[in-house]
Amino acid sequence: MAVPSDKPVTLSLLRDLPKIELHAHLSGSISRQCLHEIWLRKREEGKLPSNLEDPLLAIPPGKVDYDLKTFFPLFSNYIYHLCFDASSIEYSTRRVLEDFRDDGVVYLELRTTPRTSPEHGISKESYVQLVLSTIDAFNQEQASSKQSNESPFKSSPMKTYLILSIDRRNTAAEAMEVVDLALRYQHRGVVGVDLCGDPSKGDVAIFGPAFEKADDYDLGITLHFAESESVTEKELQTLLSFDPHRIGHVIHLPEGYREEIAVRKLGLELCLSCNVHAKMITGGVENHHFGYWKNKGCPIALSTDDVGVFCSPLSNEYFLAASHFNLSFAEIVQLCKGAVEVIFGGDEEKDRLRSLYKQFS
Ligand SMILES: [Zn+2]
Repeated sequence: MAVPSDKPVTLSLLRDLPKIELHAHLSGSISRQCLHEIWLRKREEGKLPSNLEDPLLAIPPGKVDYDLKTFFPLFSNYIYHLCFDASSIEYSTRRVLEDFRDDGVVYLELRTTPRTSPEHGISKESYVQLVLSTIDAFNQEQASSKQSNESPFKSSPMKTYLILSIDRRNTAAEAMEVVDLALRYQHRGVVGVDLCGDPSKGDVAIFGPAFEKADDYDLGITLHFAESESVTEKELQTLLSFDPHRIGHVIHLPEGYREEIAVRKLGLELCLSCNVHAKMITGGVENHHFGYWKNKGCPIALSTDDVGVFCSPLSNEYFLAASHFNLSFAEIVQLCKGAVEVIFGGDEEKDRLRSLYKQFS
């Protein structure tokens, strides 16, 4: 039975709507409560690095005004010092998956930068294995779980895939190592590679060979694109030469680039709350470039980026888009259907998601 598409758009309706999340960083998606629990456990075990403040004090509940200057140190100086060993990496990954599932996400591409913690026996490869085994176990539980019948819509188990990120501060060799890891674990659900990190750092031109290899072996390519005002045309040209399938943020575009992106029909990962709270755009949600892109023919995946930092789950991102841009429920569903076409998870997943959205036609 088709669901009427003239339903009033409420937050609870959008929580029940099956959703696709394509731009979520694992470490940035860990809730403060989860960090607090890890902190308590490490304190009990006597394993807490000295002077590491309780997350509920270091990242106070309700604080979301992290900008590009304060955001990155939050990870390098804090979150990575708390989630450093196998148990904390597994625990936090699982909690992140639960949070997305509880928000009605049915398809998730989680991304993470492979990192090491030599004093705890964690190499980049074992880090990726830990995250993947947690995802595997969760996918299996999901596949065998009964779907709640409280939702007004037919839903489906959440399926998660992994994207490995190259950090802009990486060397060319480190970037190639990320691509090689992605290829080694492609059969376990790594579906793509990403370029992320502080946009003021690094020369992206050195990553050409790494992205070329990713493309040769059919990994999906997504890039953080034009995030900061300081971006140069040279950099944007270089990034487009990597032939990305999707680009994230897409804020500070010089003349001509909008047309180029529209002609290529690139998938756009747009993150409303993140861009507003981090002051990456001027003004509020109503000034977000989602308003420009919503009818330009590029598939759009509304995404959270770092829900642990900006505290707006995906259902709320859809609600913000609906309320600030006056979208009907039918238009919201249309948006979700567009995102299906730019997932990296393959044709079988696309079919599953398409059939899920058929109930709204
Ligand atoms: Zn991001």
